[in-house]
Amino acid sequence: MTPDCLFCKIIEGEIPSKKVFEDDRVFAFEDIDPKAPTHVLIIPKKHIVGLKEADPNDAEILGYMQLAAAKLANERKLESGYRTVLNVGPDAGQSVFHIHLHLLGGRKLSWPPG
Ligand code: 5GP
Ligand code: ZN
Repeated sequence: MTPDCLFCKIIEGEIPSKKVFEDDRVFAFEDIDPKAPTHVLIIPKKHIVGLKEADPNDAEILGYMQLAAAKLANERKLESGYRTVLNVGPDAGQSVFHIHLHLLGGRKLSWPPG
């Protein structure tokens, strides 16, 4: 656990969240400010700052996060269309510096994103 990290505190239960899935590697919870009917954040239990800070040792967990998103999307019957998103760096809107995969679905999603 990294001190002063909001998402590490959510994993530990120090800050409450609406958990949707947890195993030994990832934790998934409802976004506090949802941008779609389904807006879930999937985070690794290991503190990784963001995609550009990840290293080759993180390849497995990065893929595992995507597969966790696909499993949740399947359970929620979102397979007519959903999106998984990593915002990387401040110009892309990354506001929490513990990597998190957004799972968005349940409405038509336009392209390109803003
Ligand atoms: P980013 O903008 O970094 O890609 O995404 C951060 C996301 O975390 C945002 O969608 C924001 O609504 C969500 N978020 C920020 N603080 C909290 C919180 O305390 N609880 C939950 N559940 N989501 C949060
Ligand atoms: Zn963290």
